[in-house]
Amino acid sequence: MYEFAVTPAVTNIRRRGVEICEVAPNSLGAEMELESGDRIIKVNGRVVRDYLDFRFQTAGETELVLEVRKKSGEDWELELERAEGEDFGLGFEAIVPRQCANECIFCFCNGNPADARPSLFIKDEDIRLSFLYGNYTTLTSITEDEMRRIVEQRLSPQYVSVHATDTDVRAYMLGIDKSRADISTKLQRLLDAGIEVHAQVVLCPGINDKEVLDKTIFDLAAEYPRITSVAIVPLGLTRYNTDARLTRVTPEFCRNVIDQVVAIQKQLHAKLGTNFALLGDEIYLRAGRRIPGKSHYGDYPQIEDGVGMVRSFTNEFTRLMRQLERDEAATLNNTPGTIFTGTLFAPELKRMINKLNTRFGTRLSVEPLENSYFGGDVSVAGLLTGQDLLHARERVTGEFVVIPKQMLKSDEAIMLDGMKLDDVSRALGQPVHAVNLQDLTALLNTKPMLV
Ligand code: SF4
Repeated sequence: MYEFAVTPAVTNIRRRGVEICEVAPNSLGAEMELESGDRIIKVNGRVVRDYLDFRFQTAGETELVLEVRKKSGEDWELELERAEGEDFGLGFEAIVPRQCANECIFCFCNGNPADARPSLFIKDEDIRLSFLYGNYTTLTSITEDEMRRIVEQRLSPQYVSVHATDTDVRAYMLGIDKSRADISTKLQRLLDAGIEVHAQVVLCPGINDKEVLDKTIFDLAAEYPRITSVAIVPLGLTRYNTDARLTRVTPEFCRNVIDQVVAIQKQLHAKLGTNFALLGDEIYLRAGRRIPGKSHYGDYPQIEDGVGMVRSFTNEFTRLMRQLERDEAATLNNTPGTIFTGTLFAPELKRMINKLNTRFGTRLSVEPLENSYFGGDVSVAGLLTGQDLLHARERVTGEFVVIPKQMLKSDEAIMLDGMKLDDVSRALGQPVHAVNLQDLTALLNTKPMLV
């Protein structure tokens, strides 16, 4: 099972060279007659596996020898000199994610409908994507080559899904044997090499909560500041997760977790000067408790994991309101529109937008968008789909629609169910703007975007 799962992944990261997809006009790349479709195989005799390798191996070098396989099939050797920091003007193919060899009981792939788009079934476990985008890896099947690469190329920080430092519990959660689940030596090696690590715990009731969670937090905090933080996010179950080992997260569970973690945060803060263990926003929202203030999150180390996103947005919104209050000439566009967001965050957003409407005459309504595609207790914005929007079309008022940017694929205007943003716009008969929570405040303040 393990070998079967790992082999194709290793094949993926061993593709020869990296393909050029774009060459900027008048750039160094164009001068070298490089074209889209060419592959760079080596730089100064060193193999290039992807664009990170290219970046690393060319950084700081002014004299370079590139071995190139032209798309015509010819092999070229290009010698060049460049000014320090001179850009090649090349765009490269995206990194093909290496896939994991785990069978996590809570894996999001198990919660997909059978007809979800294929990319939703990709179980990425890639230290490159961890460095580039903050994707989490478990380090369970990391190769020696990858370990060395992290250290040599300083692919820091790394985001690691720990879940539990109790190895029996971790092995159970990841569906692997105990020897693979134990990553203490690997983690230590990364930390000793000065690689910054952010840890994550997906909290599953009855499995890695209570004393297991206590131990996990304290074990990880013992490595502070080398391990910078641990994000604790709740298990999310769709209607397709039928694994009897999993228990749904309830508001009461969330309240208990907050009480437990607040006590630990106090101890850690007194000792380390940081809360270190940070709970996902979803836990506070589900519990019906207040989201902590800005200082609780420090510099928001794991905001992309939904830890502190609501606080950051609320503060940004408050700043906008103050700025508008100070500016006597301030007027916002009063074109009516509808803002959709996940059911958990909608009440918070509604309160804020109502203030804006009352004070500045905007005519925006906030509508909670139920997740009919995944069902279950999925209530976060990032898992909403085009179908969900179409189901809510009767609640669209005004002349435009705003949706959370997380509803779209990061590099394409397409939603989890394969619907394109343009198709949704057409079906709703309205322009649909996909924005980040943070950008929403900017959008409200920018008249042309609202029309
Ligand atoms: S949760 Fe992540 S590590 Fe676990 S099986 Fe799924 S993709 Fe792999």
